[in-house]
Amino acid sequence: MLLGPPGAGKGTQAHRLQDRFDGVALISTGDIFRQNLRQGTPLGEEAKRYMDAGELVPDDVVVRMVSDALADQPGGFILDGFPRTVAQADALESELERSSRPLTGVLALALDDEAAVKRLAGRRTCSSCQRTYNVELHPPRREGVCDACGGELVQRDDDQELTVRRRLDVYHASTAPLVEFYRERGLLREVDADGSEDEVTSRALDALGETADRH
Ligand code: AMP
Repeated sequence: MLLGPPGAGKGTQAHRLQDRFDGVALISTGDIFRQNLRQGTPLGEEAKRYMDAGELVPDDVVVRMVSDALADQPGGFILDGFPRTVAQADALESELERSSRPLTGVLALALDDEAAVKRLAGRRTCSSCQRTYNVELHPPRREGVCDACGGELVQRDDDQELTVRRRLDVYHASTAPLVEFYRERGLLREVDADGSEDEVTSRALDALGETADRH
C-alpha cells in the first residue's frame, strides 16, 4: 500500500513497483474514479463533485468500490490512494482478514507541502494510461504526448493550486493519522519522497526488502 500526501509520487511509484513485481495488480482509487468519469457512469458523476472540490468521496462509496476491485484480483495487489481515512483502513483490515490476504507492507512517502504544490502544478497526466509526467522535473519526450502509450497529456482539474491546497489540508486532517495506524501494526516503511523517481524507487525497494523477503 502506498500512503502519502498528494504530489508525493504514489501513482508513479505504484506503476514502477508493479513493473518490478510480476503479476501484481494495481488498484488506484483515483484512477478508477477518473475512468468512471470519462465513461459517464453514475459513480463517476458522484465522485466528480468531491474530486473537483479537493474533498474525499464518502467512505461507503470507496469501500464498496475497493471490495469489488479486490474480489476481481485474487492474487497480490498494490493499493494506491486507498485507504485515506481510519474508517477505510478498518474496513480494509476486515475485508483482508476475511479473504486471508494480509497486508505485507505500507510505504509512507514523505514530502513537505510546498514541494507537493510545486510538483502538482507542473504535473501532466496521460488521458489514456494515467501515467504522469512533470513539465519541469520529468518532461515527456514529445510535448503533450505520453512516452508509454502515445496518449494525450492533460492537466487534472484538481491539480489547480487552490484545490491542491485543500487536498493537502484534507490529507493532514483525515489521512495522516494512518501513519500511526500502520506503525502500530508494524507495517509502516517510511520513505523520503524528495528526489528523482529512480532514487525514490530504490529507497522504496530497500524499505520493502525486509517485508518482501519475509513473504
Ligand atoms: P488521487 O488520484 O489518488 O489523488 O485521487 C483523486 C481524488 O479522488 C481525491 O482527491 C478524492 O476526491 C478521490 N479519492 C481517491 N481515493 C479516495 C479515497 N480512498 N477516499 C476518498 N476519496 C478518494
